[in-house]
Amino acid sequence: MAQNDVEAFRFPEDVVPIPGLTVEVDQLWDQGRFGTAVDVLLRFLRTYGRSAAAFRLALPLLRATRTADANLVEPVTDAQRANPYFAPIATECARCQAFWYSGHVLVREHRMAVTNPIGSQCDSCRYSLCRDCFTPADSRCPEEGCAGALGVPVLPTGRPRGLPANRHTEKIEHVAIRWEGEPTGIGEITRLLDLACTWQDFAGIRVTSRESDLDTEPGDLVLAACELDGTVSPGALNRTRGLRVDSPGLGRRELLITAAPRTGPASRLTGPITYTVARKTQAPQGRGWFRRAT
Ligand SMILES: [Zn+2]
Ligand SMILES: [Zn+2]
Repeated sequence: MAQNDVEAFRFPEDVVPIPGLTVEVDQLWDQGRFGTAVDVLLRFLRTYGRSAAAFRLALPLLRATRTADANLVEPVTDAQRANPYFAPIATECARCQAFWYSGHVLVREHRMAVTNPIGSQCDSCRYSLCRDCFTPADSRCPEEGCAGALGVPVLPTGRPRGLPANRHTEKIEHVAIRWEGEPTGIGEITRLLDLACTWQDFAGIRVTSRESDLDTEPGDLVLAACELDGTVSPGALNRTRGLRVDSPGLGRRELLITAAPRTGPASRLTGPITYTVARKTQAPQGRGWFRRAT
């Protein structure tokens, strides 16, 4: 019998809060600035890795719906909700692509009265179905060899189908983004990095985003040029994985994610990320430089 929660984060019995983070998020919560609060938590997770305290603060924000609170100044966006950094505390439907954030993991009581639950889960193997895929008349677990029944509570499963592309790369040295269509803005670049480099150490890395013809211009050539001008350290091609994505409404993108070498200066990068965005037709002095706030 397969266990359906291998990607899930397991909350400890007692979550030790991080006082500074709690104060900051609570203040934003009180101001109805949920979107900013989620950004604060994302920044924390990117820097320090998985954290029960940060996940504990994130759940109520990710569960909040737009209509629930009239005082909501900044709602949580769909992109924030789908961010791979929150995948370990999400529950994914085993039948369709739907995922959601259940608050049941925060509830200590054994007996729960949940009316109209958003999904159901097997009490034995955590096989989960969303509300649309679950047939209340038949609550037997569909998992082969499992004698459990679907119901509540619903606990995190992680999102096996929403995993980041390059999860086995260790420290990142460089990310080249090649784009067609609209240029990448800082918000999109951050989302692409989250998708490709979740839980990786990308302190001090360079992100080069350039206009490129994805069909005729091979990625290896772009990487070779980066190696020649010193943007990335030698032997980069062997340490690089590619990922093609479509940014809805913006165009096609290809990410070339280069892991840091085991030794040498590039293996010990620290500090903020440096971004370069360049159009194909622009001379080098036309480049726009900007830095991500840390
Ligand atoms: Zn479903
Ligand atoms: Zn089951």
